[in-house]
Amino acid sequence: MRGKWGSTEVPQSKWSCVNVYDLGSPLLVCDMCEQQRIRYVHIMVHSDWNSELKCGCVCAGYMEGDLEAAQLRELGVKREARRQAKPIGRDAISWVQAADKILEYELTSKELDFVTDMRARFKLRPGFEATERQENWFVDIYKRVVR
Ligand SMILES: [Zn+2]
Repeated sequence: MRGKWGSTEVPQSKWSCVNVYDLGSPLLVCDMCEQQRIRYVHIMVHSDWNSELKCGCVCAGYMEGDLEAAQLRELGVKREARRQAKPIGRDAISWVQAADKILEYELTSKELDFVTDMRARFKLRPGFEATERQENWFVDIYKRVVR
């Protein structure tokens, strides 16, 4: 047993997951096993424990007693991450990240308005899909100014 597994203080079961999100890369270590580096963070809560634990998929699954539920949650987030990280130029980054890069450079006022507007749409409306014309214009600007 590693980390909090086997602890007599920390509850070992009946945890629930309240959220799961993608850090983009493995930046955290799982709060439960204190060993696994995690990119997809399952936020776990328990009525007998006063703080939430940020956990990896496997620990989260055992904590809630449903490994399959944890795996399905994580799959959903992975699918979303893939959808957002479209290749733009030679970089596979999200549209919002690409817009941030573009906005570091000098643009015409028309381009500035366009990229600022697109950034807001991509950021505020997760399901937003640009038209082909918008997408081509955006990628053209990206390729010209960023690389
Ligand atoms: Zn763990």
